[in-house]
Amino acid sequence: SCPCALVISIPLGLYAGLGKASKVGALIKGGNYLELLKDIDTVVFDKTGTLTEGSFEVVEINGADDLLMLGAYGESMSNHPIARSIVKAYNKGIDSTRIEDFKEIAGKGLSVVIDQKQYELGNEKYFHELGIEVSQPQSIGTIVHIACQKQYLGHIVVADVIKESTMPGIQDLKKAHVSNTVMLTGDHSTVARDIASKIGIDQVYSDLLPQDKVTQLEKLMGNDHVVAFVGDGINDAPVLARSDIGIAMGGVGSDVAIEAADVVLMSDDITSIAKAIQVSHYTNFILKENVTFTLLIKIGVLVLTLFGLTNMWMGVFADVGVTLIAICNSMRILYKKS
Ligand code: ADP
Ligand code: MG
Repeated sequence: SCPCALVISIPLGLYAGLGKASKVGALIKGGNYLELLKDIDTVVFDKTGTLTEGSFEVVEINGADDLLMLGAYGESMSNHPIARSIVKAYNKGIDSTRIEDFKEIAGKGLSVVIDQKQYELGNEKYFHELGIEVSQPQSIGTIVHIACQKQYLGHIVVADVIKESTMPGIQDLKKAHVSNTVMLTGDHSTVARDIASKIGIDQVYSDLLPQDKVTQLEKLMGNDHVVAFVGDGINDAPVLARSDIGIAMGGVGSDVAIEAADVVLMSDDITSIAKAIQVSHYTNFILKENVTFTLLIKIGVLVLTLFGLTNMWMGVFADVGVTLIAICNSMRILYKKS
């Protein structure tokens, strides 16, 4: 009646599951998350850096002559992918002594002092709050409006590309019985809807500030849904922490994201999510098999013992034999073809 078969094979099964999940690209931070993965019915994605590459190209510059230079100076202290793309497009050295008072406003843009003049850079929502009229661009993309001392200077449009793994990743989730896929973004609705229609995601919410993303996630989590959030941590670390399972991009993701997340995708490939869900199902199946098999044999031998029908080798089998079989069964998780 010694429970060693259970005590050894269950943790071993979970370890095997964690090992198998890391082989398919998902580092899971604990057995509890591995068990929860199979129950996910809603997967919520951040857009920039998660569904898209997060490496923007400047596609339009419209306004004052030195707009790109001002854009690059303004953005030079930001880590946002948009900022890095503008600095890259400028492609000249930045004299940081000309920059002061840099303030980033999450989900909106930033304010900065360049050569003793106050500049604002950001999206339409931000400019609307500042009471500055903006012009509309010709190209589809994320727009960075620029103003100097409340005078509108013009805009720079940057465009991102959808990751190669995004479409298969979302289709695989449907096959893994995830009934709802959602995109949350701080970007403008035209860009958001353009991308959502291309990749076949079920729901889109755009123009969200980091705190709106949390509220939206909480709404989705109501009615007993198990919700995973996938993000890169730029403006979405609170959402990662709040979700049932937070999944971070290991490559492009920020350190905060990797810290706040329960699962880290090692190569930023979202097809790993469906694979990890499969590992979770299989691990669960093997663990149940072990519990059932172990208890049946042990109870069977105990009952037979009551009637004096057992002997020493049956006792040894019910203890060590069952333990070895359960261990071997747990190891199957590692060698399962995915
Ligand atoms: P997403 O939800 O797509 O990951 P973010 O929440 O990071 O996007 O940003 C939302 C929006 O805020 C961006 O689309 C952009 O318009 C604006 N924004 C954020 N940071 C910056 C920045 N450094 N420079 C200009 N605009 C920015
Ligand atoms: Mg983001």
